[in-house]
Amino acid sequence: MNIEPTFREQLIDAGILIPLGVDGVWGRNGVFEAICAGLEHAISEAGLNDAPEVMRFPPAMPQDYFEKSGYMKNFPHFAGTIHSFDGDERGQHKLLGQMARGEPWMEQQQPAGLVLTPAACYSVYPTLARRGPLANVGALVDVYCWCFRHEPSLEPTRFQFFRMREFVRVGTVAQVMAFREDWVARGKVFATSLGIPFEVDIANDPFFGRGGKLMADSQREQALKFELLVPINEGAGPTACMSFNYHMTHFGETWDMRTEDGEVAHTACIGFGIERLALAMLRHHGFDLDLWPVDVRAFMGFGTKVSKSVGSVDAVEA
Ligand code: 5GP
Ligand code: ZN
Repeated sequence: MNIEPTFREQLIDAGILIPLGVDGVWGRNGVFEAICAGLEHAISEAGLNDAPEVMRFPPAMPQDYFEKSGYMKNFPHFAGTIHSFDGDERGQHKLLGQMARGEPWMEQQQPAGLVLTPAACYSVYPTLARRGPLANVGALVDVYCWCFRHEPSLEPTRFQFFRMREFVRVGTVAQVMAFREDWVARGKVFATSLGIPFEVDIANDPFFGRGGKLMADSQREQALKFELLVPINEGAGPTACMSFNYHMTHFGETWDMRTEDGEVAHTACIGFGIERLALAMLRHHGFDLDLWPVDVRAFMGFGTKVSKSVGSVDAVEA
């Protein structure tokens, strides 16, 4: 019997995803990273004319930012907190003994005051809020960050650690709504240039608990979230590779962000899931980057030949 390997198995066999023995946590090879670098390039080009302010953050945020963001109200099941050893030498001795015996050893680990970033835009709002009232044009930020969500899964499209690039708009309701509408259209053009099939649909976030269902329903009713979905996994529904989110005054109120005339600011963000877009391209164009359509390769900033051994687009032979 000849059973076709799954997409996941194909990715592992080709060395593109490197298993680490934990579901949803992967290493990646040069092919994968070349695609990610190409996506970064293409996203920068797509946003260039808007002259966004660039912000880059480490993959963790201060605990007080995180607490105030309200994330634990909505998504406590995804959060990852950082802890480090806070004992003395006796404590270390005890810990090593516990480890050697295969016993729990975490009791001396204390919160490090840091939480893994769950979405790239979360560090942007407090940063903007600290500056005081916005200028009358509002703010537009290009942010890129490794994110963490504790949702182990066998699906290759659900990473626990993944990169999210976002354009974040803060301003009046009119500015923010126009931005999101514009980006839904631009997102479709972007996906068309990547040469992948897609649909855009209304969506909701996976809110926690019994109250979460109400939150999700209300988010859909108010059309606060759209996703650009691409078929990637066999036998499963399409995967959200981009999202277009309007938060109304949620972050404006949380961080007391104000427009020039003193009104509470509205916010929206456009998220590009880098790993998922890379997987979508591998799925639809194959694993040999040299054989991808010429126009797609040009859009990604690839040279004429992308050898499998390259680690980044910079190293690509022109
Ligand atoms: P959102 O905040 O809308 O949940 O996520 C923004 C984007 O990040 C999504 O559209 C998706 O592309 C990406 N993303 C969300 N969750 C995951 C995940 O579990 N794994 C990966 N690789 N990407 C994700
Ligand atoms: Zn966001």
